[in-house]
Amino acid sequence: MISRVFAGALLLAATKVIGQSPTPTPTPTPSPAPTPARLSPATIADLARIRDAALNSDYALRQVAHLSNNIGPRLTGSAQAAKAVEYVAAELKALGLEVQLEKVTVPHWVRGEETAALVQFPGQAENTTQKIILTALGGSVATPAEGITASVVVARNFDELQSLGREKVAGKIVLFDYHFDKQMAAESHGGEAYGQAVVYRGDGATAAAKLGAVASLIRSVGGADFRLPHTGSTNYKEDAPKIPAGAVTAEDADLISALTAQGEVKMHLVLTPQQLPDTTSFNVIGDLKGSEHPEDVVITSGHLDSWDLGTGAIDDAAGVAVAMQTANVLQQLHIRPKRTIRVLAWMNEENGLRGGKTYAQDHAADMAKQFAAIETDGGAGHPVGIHFHANAEVGKWLEPAARVLQESGAGIIAPSEHSTGADIGPIDEQGVPTFAPMQDSRFYFNYHHTAADTLDKIVPRELAENAAVVAVTAYALANLEQPLPR
Ligand SMILES: [Zn+2]
Repeated sequence: MISRVFAGALLLAATKVIGQSPTPTPTPTPSPAPTPARLSPATIADLARIRDAALNSDYALRQVAHLSNNIGPRLTGSAQAAKAVEYVAAELKALGLEVQLEKVTVPHWVRGEETAALVQFPGQAENTTQKIILTALGGSVATPAEGITASVVVARNFDELQSLGREKVAGKIVLFDYHFDKQMAAESHGGEAYGQAVVYRGDGATAAAKLGAVASLIRSVGGADFRLPHTGSTNYKEDAPKIPAGAVTAEDADLISALTAQGEVKMHLVLTPQQLPDTTSFNVIGDLKGSEHPEDVVITSGHLDSWDLGTGAIDDAAGVAVAMQTANVLQQLHIRPKRTIRVLAWMNEENGLRGGKTYAQDHAADMAKQFAAIETDGGAGHPVGIHFHANAEVGKWLEPAARVLQESGAGIIAPSEHSTGADIGPIDEQGVPTFAPMQDSRFYFNYHHTAADTLDKIVPRELAENAAVVAVTAYALANLEQPLPR
């Protein structure tokens, strides 16, 4: 990406030198060919109408409310996930879109019992235990039904684990007490803070198992302050035994760390999740056909599945709802895009990414027709603009759209270092330009993947602002006068 930009800049510099060299004849220099308009005046006028309609509509909010309140948690393979597929397909049909369900074979993991207590610790009153609040990580294997009892050893990071060595880790329960950087999140770099801490959720169990640990726990990833555990997938590698994996709350991690510093701490741990056979689910697709290039597709999307502790309002009913709002607003205004706008509700972002991977495989032959893809998967916080992962020129092309969005404070357009969404990652890898609203991430990680991801966390005005960013971006992409450079 960077080298391609550099090469382009060098070429441009070379062209300029040639163009500026003095000409021997005194004839007037011909004026350079005007840069062709990327967006027509009619399109720009429509973008303002689309923005206003999205800002003034409660359609997206009603969709989030239905998905989170009426359907509820939508873990892949669950009855609620199936119901959500049915519901979104029906809503997209009601909007007059061409609807298809694309089959996805998905994992089916279900949570079981999850309890823990400290049964031995320094200063303990006789015949007492200390309750530990935790949750199983997605994909975790189970302990025996009656649980396990073992000493706990704390490592703040992978280096500390290694320096403890097999001698101090074998037969123990490892707790990774890596602290989520709340200050970084407060500065609206929530995603970066999450990225630093989440590696322990992904790789902790395998690292601990390699040294003979019997279970692996992490300090919950995120800023939650109300003793809420935070779930999410763990990724077992093939080169170590699979051991039960969970996340204790930040408060419980502090407690265990304090007590283990004083002496031996033993925990009784029960985790009984189950990995059931793979099952069938679907990506939901609704097309608003383009008037000039119906074969070219601009995807606007969010993921339909969610974790099971909360009701998946911010992660990611909000993303699905703002994608649906794009089609709703265009239909309401009777505006037809030049290219097809495809509303896409992905299945299985959270514990497998099978929806995104299957779509990339199924559409490998028509990847050139996947014109661009937008995904909203960072909640519904106030957006300040558009992120893109594409040729650097794309930023300039969308400047008129950014000016339209400046009215709701979303006028920034900035490149991203990687795909702008997980589900659109597999097609991004195949060269499809990707986009996302650039969202306020200060509070998102206080709730996401916890029991507190519920409808009340959505600020209606901010959700509408995200809908405006997505609808304007989708329509601008669909109506570009030239194909995007790749
Ligand atoms: Zn998500």
